[in-house]
Amino acid sequence: MKLILTHLFLFLFINQLHSSNYFQQKVDYKIQVTLNDVTHELRGFEEITYTNNSPVPLQELYFHLYPNAYKNTSTPLAKELYNVGAEYMLEAEEKDLGSIDSLDFKTGTIKLEWQLLQDTIDICKIKLAEPLLPGASITISTPFKVKIPSAVLSRLGHNEQAYFITQWYPKPAVYDKNGWNYFSYLDKGEYYSEFGSFDVTITLPANYVVGATGELIDGESENTWLEEKSKETMGLADFPTDMSFPASSKEMKTLHFKQNNIHDFAWFADKRWHVIKGEVELSGSKRKITTRSFFTNAEAAFWKKAPEYISSSIKYMSDWVGEYPYSSFTAVDVTDASGSGMEYPMITAIGNYGSAFELDVTIAHEIFHNWFYGLFGINERKHPWMDEGITNFYETRYIYTKFANDKEKQQEPVYTYGKFRKILNLEKVNHKQIQYERYLSAIRRHTDVAPDQYAQNFSRSNYGNIVYYKTTLSFDYLKVYLGDESFDRSMQRFYTDWKFKHPDPGDLKNTFETETGKDLKWFFDDLMRSNKAIDYSICSVKTRSDTATLTLSNQGEVESPLWLNTIQNGEIKNSVLVEGFSGRKIIDVPFSTGDVFRIDANKIIPELDRKNNTIKSCGLFKKSEKLSLKFLTAVEDPERTQLFYAPVIGFNNYNSVMGGIVLHNVTFHEKPFEFAVMPMYAAGTKDLTGGADFRYHIYRKNKQIQKITIQETIGHYAYEKDVVFNQATGAENTYFLNFTKSDTRIIFSFQRPHPQKNITKEFELRNVFVRRDVAEENIPQGPGYVYTYAPKEFDYNYLKGEYRRINSNELDAGSQRIAAEYNEDFFKAYVELKQFYSYGKKGKGIFTRFFGGYISLSDVNNKPDVDYRYNLSGTAGSGDYLYNDIFLGRTETTGLFSHQFIRNGAGFTAPTQFYRKADQWMVGLNASTTLPGLIPFRLYANIGTFNDANKIGGDENYGISWELGVELTVMKDVLSVYLPFAYSRDIKYVVDQRNYNTSDLIRFELHLQNLNPLKYIRTTFKQ
Ligand SMILES: [Zn+2]
Repeated sequence: MKLILTHLFLFLFINQLHSSNYFQQKVDYKIQVTLNDVTHELRGFEEITYTNNSPVPLQELYFHLYPNAYKNTSTPLAKELYNVGAEYMLEAEEKDLGSIDSLDFKTGTIKLEWQLLQDTIDICKIKLAEPLLPGASITISTPFKVKIPSAVLSRLGHNEQAYFITQWYPKPAVYDKNGWNYFSYLDKGEYYSEFGSFDVTITLPANYVVGATGELIDGESENTWLEEKSKETMGLADFPTDMSFPASSKEMKTLHFKQNNIHDFAWFADKRWHVIKGEVELSGSKRKITTRSFFTNAEAAFWKKAPEYISSSIKYMSDWVGEYPYSSFTAVDVTDASGSGMEYPMITAIGNYGSAFELDVTIAHEIFHNWFYGLFGINERKHPWMDEGITNFYETRYIYTKFANDKEKQQEPVYTYGKFRKILNLEKVNHKQIQYERYLSAIRRHTDVAPDQYAQNFSRSNYGNIVYYKTTLSFDYLKVYLGDESFDRSMQRFYTDWKFKHPDPGDLKNTFETETGKDLKWFFDDLMRSNKAIDYSICSVKTRSDTATLTLSNQGEVESPLWLNTIQNGEIKNSVLVEGFSGRKIIDVPFSTGDVFRIDANKIIPELDRKNNTIKSCGLFKKSEKLSLKFLTAVEDPERTQLFYAPVIGFNNYNSVMGGIVLHNVTFHEKPFEFAVMPMYAAGTKDLTGGADFRYHIYRKNKQIQKITIQETIGHYAYEKDVVFNQATGAENTYFLNFTKSDTRIIFSFQRPHPQKNITKEFELRNVFVRRDVAEENIPQGPGYVYTYAPKEFDYNYLKGEYRRINSNELDAGSQRIAAEYNEDFFKAYVELKQFYSYGKKGKGIFTRFFGGYISLSDVNNKPDVDYRYNLSGTAGSGDYLYNDIFLGRTETTGLFSHQFIRNGAGFTAPTQFYRKADQWMVGLNASTTLPGLIPFRLYANIGTFNDANKIGGDENYGISWELGVELTVMKDVLSVYLPFAYSRDIKYVVDQRNYNTSDLIRFELHLQNLNPLKYIRTTFKQ
């Protein structure tokens, strides 16, 4: 993080010194490297010629030493992986880590002074013996040794004897008009390197197939060997399933690769690869490009078609953007590496996919990177959208062009959801719409950021939803607005002017505006450089004989073009292009009876809300939509009012089995108003029970308090069953006591404090109103009495305020809560702090909790049946006076249901609730540890005390309470079971007094509300 800040300051400073002074450094590499496939090491020697084309003398050079990113658990890569909950770097053994060493930078025979940067050991600074003047060159050489890390960590690595050699050699950072651009290797966020030439020789055992950047020089025997392998592969009708590695041959070979006009060099080696060689002829120059596919048996059946995927990708992109400038392209199967596809110049590494279509699309995507990452050499760390986003746009275009007549392919899920498609009504969602839905998931919550942003400023979900999908949708919009011909001509101009030159967003904007003669501020400034949202609506329509006058309104923040469509019988019959405007705009369009008017009927514009886009020309309810009732949920349909249903069943000990239906409007994306109503019929009480939930969200974009939610939850259930024997009549009467609650909350959600970490900060104000039946038993004296039983209603009202900060990161999960509660009978204030300390393995570590609470009770408790005191051992059903949790039994004192509790207060688990209560203050400290292996048991220790702790049953001097126990997590966050096996004297007193045996001491927490499927649906799209 420090690096980014200094970098930013440097950027601002130098930018003023010489803005607009375009120049470009040149780096020519000569590298010899030998692979040792027993020790998994590279030994090499590098000599670079660095040419300073800048207008300033350079005193020092910065080099990236990216293998050092894998060296220990405090590198920026390790921290990044830790922050996103990826534990493998922490869990890696020494042999799985990587590094680069044996460096000795020299110019000629003069040793150069150099040092690793502090905290970022994957960057070094080399002090030059004398300043490198503008126009001058210097040759710097160094030996190096790379310890190749395990492939599961990130992109450089090996899986046994399969090698993925990327970002492996000492590499100068880019020095451009903004100064030095050095940055640590990260998993999310890619590279920026100087253009130049590579001359690389690789020595390794002779039976390795090697795929590399560059052209093979003097490779006659190697080429003959590959040709033979290719013929052999073509002859195979079926591929074996064997994935074992053949022994390495004793004999070594040296391969020599050369290439000009590139900025990176990667190579891959595997002894198991099949080979297919192919060729593609470019339509423009008729130049022939050699294609190679190297693959294992893992997905060989799909890979056999890879030459066609490579050919069509190179052809489409050469036509759309500009000719592929190199003479070959290789796709290699890295079936066991980390990640699913990664681009390098002239070569791509592809993981497992499971379908030919996905392999095709992924190869296309990675090949397209050869333009934006490759021959433009975008600064991907600073402008990730210019690489990933535009590449992804062309990937989408590829699908819709290559499979133009194949609707099924357009709907084939490239992005997961495979198994949920049917149940979530996603079957008709096509490739473009999935991307729109992903984008919506961010902008509906107003948590999106501008696409033009340093890679590390994006949360993991925003990196996908904004960098990839918003950019894709926006470029698609721009292309439709400009027309294919004009769009392609602009991009081709960009290619001609900027290939091999590191263009930035301003250069792309200038090219497009110059070429089209249009003001494209709405696109480049508003869509790419801000998080402004588009939202147009139709306010009204007036019709006169053959003309309709429509009033359009811009409710969004962008003045972008739109299409106004006239629709008749579901078909678009007219389309008017309206240039962007602010406020309102009146438009006349031709009209005939039955017309419907719609903004953007083709769904090109990535709008915040498409629901306000339609108006009918006649009828009483011009803006009304048809109702659509569907099972569970579906993606939003802007032309329908959607309602979803699902059956629900419930149970508690009084209502017994409850069955009903939930009706709701919750879809994948949050919207301002959401509701769920759940009426149920209860078999036990033979009446209606259930609940409802209404939420209204107010969004405050780019503000500290990002969202204010007003929420109302109501519920009505029974909480006690009494059977009364009437002496007089001899009859048994059953009475049920019910509660009805209304829980009103205002929740203030703060901006996430850390883009990479899943941390939420909220402040909640809450009013809970409960109306309860309370039994009033009337037992008259004397003979022949009549026993009466008359439940009476009582009202309870509570105010609560809570601030909470919750970190849901798996490796350092924790939460802090400060809360206060008030009603006429009591005032409470308490803190609860939870923290998980990882042992370095996923899910393994120590869980700690601290509780401290103060309570002041008024002299008279005005309400019957409620005890507000803190419990040493958490709250049983009867103590849940806010009716917060779902209890199977609320008032039982015996039986299974009496064992359910909420582990609050001092957090003890032994059932001491009738004896150990605090009416002034209580503190507790809880710790539990996971056990080695996969055992779901934890050991726990609790210690606590309170104002009256010394006394029980008239005795004093009981002091501090403690207990040790064992916990079984049956289902995380839903069901945990506890058994204390050793405890303090006071608890023993309670156990003796109540005659508890071991099974009486077992208690469980059951949080059924965490099983809510709607919650699950929402997070599916949040990823
Ligand atoms: Zn990509």
